[in-house]
Amino acid sequence: MQPQLTFDEILEYLKDRPDVTRTYQVPRGSIARLACDEAAGMREMDEAETLKLADYLDVSAKDLRGPLKVVDVRCASCTHRLSFLDFAKTAVEFGAHGKEDLRQVLTGKNGEWITIRGRDGGRPVSCAQCGNDVPRPMAGCYSEYSSSDYAYA
Ligand SMILES: [Zn+2]
Repeated sequence: MQPQLTFDEILEYLKDRPDVTRTYQVPRGSIARLACDEAAGMREMDEAETLKLADYLDVSAKDLRGPLKVVDVRCASCTHRLSFLDFAKTAVEFGAHGKEDLRQVLTGKNGEWITIRGRDGGRPVSCAQCGNDVPRPMAGCYSEYSSSDYAYA
Protein backbone atom coordinates (compact mmCIF):
# COMPACT_ATOMS: atom_id res chain seq x y z
CA MET A 1 0.00 0.00 0.00
CA GLN A 2 1.42 3.35 -1.06
CA PRO A 3 0.92 6.54 0.94
CA GLN A 4 -1.91 8.85 -0.03
CA LEU A 5 -0.99 12.29 -1.34
CA THR A 6 -2.88 15.53 -0.86
CA PHE A 7 -3.56 17.62 -3.96
CA ASP A 8 -0.87 20.12 -2.89
CA GLU A 9 1.66 17.32 -2.54
CA ILE A 10 0.87 16.17 -6.07
CA LEU A 11 1.58 19.67 -7.39
CA GLU A 12 4.87 19.76 -5.47
CA TYR A 13 5.93 16.42 -6.91
CA LEU A 14 5.12 17.53 -10.44
CA LYS A 15 7.22 20.66 -9.95
CA ASP A 16 10.04 18.96 -8.08
CA ARG A 17 10.08 15.31 -9.16
CA PRO A 18 10.80 12.61 -6.57
CA ASP A 19 13.69 10.20 -7.20
CA VAL A 20 11.55 7.17 -7.87
CA THR A 21 8.51 6.69 -10.11
CA ARG A 22 5.67 5.57 -7.88
CA THR A 23 1.90 5.15 -7.80
CA TYR A 24 -0.06 7.02 -5.14
CA GLN A 25 -3.66 7.09 -4.07
CA VAL A 26 -4.97 10.64 -4.35
CA PRO A 27 -8.13 12.50 -3.30
CA ARG A 28 -11.17 12.08 -5.56
CA GLY A 29 -11.25 14.69 -8.30
CA SER A 30 -7.47 15.20 -8.44
CA ILE A 31 -7.12 13.89 -11.99
CA ALA A 32 -9.84 16.20 -13.27
CA ARG A 33 -8.20 19.14 -11.48
CA LEU A 34 -4.76 18.35 -12.88
CA ALA A 35 -5.94 18.20 -16.49
CA CYS A 36 -2.56 16.74 -17.45
CA ASP A 37 -4.39 14.70 -20.04
CA GLU A 38 -5.11 17.91 -21.90
CA ALA A 39 -1.40 17.95 -22.69
CA ALA A 40 -0.46 17.68 -26.33
CA GLY A 41 -0.08 14.23 -27.77
CA MET A 42 -2.92 12.51 -25.92
CA ARG A 43 -5.70 10.85 -27.87
CA GLU A 44 -8.87 9.09 -26.86
CA MET A 45 -8.93 5.32 -27.31
CA ASP A 46 -11.33 3.92 -29.89
CA GLU A 47 -13.96 1.28 -29.25
CA ALA A 48 -11.90 -1.65 -30.49
CA GLU A 49 -8.98 -0.68 -28.25
CA THR A 50 -11.31 -0.26 -25.27
CA LEU A 51 -12.80 -3.71 -25.90
CA LYS A 52 -9.34 -5.29 -25.99
CA LEU A 53 -8.43 -3.65 -22.69
CA ALA A 54 -11.72 -4.84 -21.15
CA ASP A 55 -11.02 -8.37 -22.44
CA TYR A 56 -7.57 -8.33 -20.92
CA LEU A 57 -8.90 -7.19 -17.55
CA ASP A 58 -11.88 -9.55 -17.74
CA VAL A 59 -14.47 -6.83 -17.34
CA SER A 60 -17.20 -5.39 -19.51
CA ALA A 61 -16.10 -2.38 -21.60
CA LYS A 62 -18.91 -0.27 -20.16
CA ASP A 63 -17.47 -0.77 -16.67
CA LEU A 64 -14.19 0.92 -17.57
CA ARG A 65 -14.50 4.49 -16.39
CA GLY A 66 -13.34 6.64 -19.25
CA PRO A 67 -12.61 8.72 -21.12
CA LEU A 68 -9.61 6.46 -21.69
CA LYS A 69 -6.77 8.48 -23.11
CA VAL A 70 -3.31 7.48 -24.16
CA VAL A 71 -0.21 9.16 -25.54
CA ASP A 72 -0.23 8.96 -29.34
CA VAL A 73 2.90 6.99 -30.21
CA ARG A 74 3.72 4.08 -32.43
CA CYS A 75 6.17 1.24 -31.88
CA ALA A 76 9.22 1.94 -34.04
CA SER A 77 9.70 -1.77 -34.75
CA CYS A 78 6.24 -2.87 -35.91
CA THR A 79 4.28 0.46 -36.18
CA HIS A 80 1.63 -0.79 -33.71
CA ARG A 81 -0.13 2.22 -32.20
CA LEU A 82 0.14 2.05 -28.40
CA SER A 83 -3.02 2.01 -26.31
CA PHE A 84 -3.76 1.79 -22.60
CA LEU A 85 -3.49 -1.98 -23.01
CA ASP A 86 0.25 -1.85 -23.75
CA PHE A 87 0.83 0.14 -20.56
CA ALA A 88 -1.43 -2.17 -18.53
CA LYS A 89 0.26 -5.34 -19.86
CA THR A 90 3.71 -3.93 -19.25
CA ALA A 91 2.79 -2.90 -15.70
CA VAL A 92 1.48 -6.39 -14.91
CA GLU A 93 4.44 -8.18 -16.53
CA PHE A 94 6.92 -5.80 -14.91
CA GLY A 95 5.30 -6.37 -11.53
CA ALA A 96 4.40 -2.71 -11.00
CA HIS A 97 0.71 -3.50 -10.54
CA GLY A 98 -1.34 -6.66 -10.15
CA LYS A 99 -4.02 -7.30 -12.78
CA GLU A 100 -6.70 -7.40 -10.06
CA ASP A 101 -5.55 -3.97 -8.79
CA LEU A 102 -5.81 -2.52 -12.29
CA ARG A 103 -9.26 -4.04 -12.71
CA GLN A 104 -10.46 -2.53 -9.42
CA VAL A 105 -9.04 0.90 -10.15
CA LEU A 106 -10.14 1.17 -13.78
CA THR A 107 -13.69 0.18 -12.85
CA GLY A 108 -13.76 2.87 -10.16
CA LYS A 109 -13.95 0.48 -7.22
CA ASN A 110 -10.77 1.45 -5.51
CA GLY A 111 -10.42 5.21 -5.41
CA GLU A 112 -8.25 7.43 -7.55
CA TRP A 113 -4.57 6.86 -8.30
CA ILE A 114 -1.75 8.67 -10.01
CA THR A 115 1.63 7.35 -11.05
CA ILE A 116 4.09 10.20 -10.75
CA ARG A 117 7.13 9.96 -12.96
CA GLY A 118 10.32 10.37 -10.94
CA ARG A 119 13.87 11.34 -11.82
CA ASP A 120 14.46 7.70 -12.71
CA GLY A 121 12.71 8.51 -16.00
CA GLY A 122 9.46 6.64 -15.46
CA ARG A 123 8.28 3.16 -16.20
CA PRO A 124 9.21 1.32 -19.36
CA VAL A 125 6.51 0.30 -21.80
CA SER A 126 6.69 -2.66 -24.15
CA CYS A 127 4.81 -3.03 -27.40
CA ALA A 128 2.05 -5.62 -26.82
CA GLN A 129 2.39 -6.74 -30.44
CA CYS A 130 6.14 -7.35 -30.84
CA GLY A 131 7.52 -6.97 -27.31
CA ASN A 132 10.06 -4.25 -28.06
CA ASP A 133 10.56 -1.37 -25.64
CA VAL A 134 9.01 1.86 -26.83
CA PRO A 135 10.78 5.09 -25.91
CA ARG A 136 8.59 8.14 -25.19
CA PRO A 137 9.17 11.86 -24.92
CA MET A 138 9.98 12.91 -21.37
CA ALA A 139 9.69 16.67 -21.26
CA GLY A 140 7.25 18.94 -19.52
CA CYS A 141 3.83 18.30 -18.07
CA TYR A 142 2.97 15.30 -20.08
CA SER A 143 0.88 12.28 -19.40
CA GLU A 144 0.94 8.82 -20.95
CA TYR A 145 -2.50 7.52 -20.13
CA SER A 146 -5.48 8.34 -18.03
CA SER A 147 -8.97 7.23 -17.14
CA SER A 148 -11.25 9.00 -14.71
CA ASP A 149 -9.62 7.06 -11.87
CA TYR A 150 -6.04 6.53 -12.93
CA ALA A 151 -3.44 8.74 -14.57
CA TYR A 152 0.24 8.94 -15.24
CA ALA A 153 1.75 12.37 -14.80
ZN1 LIG B 1 5.94 -3.35 -31.83
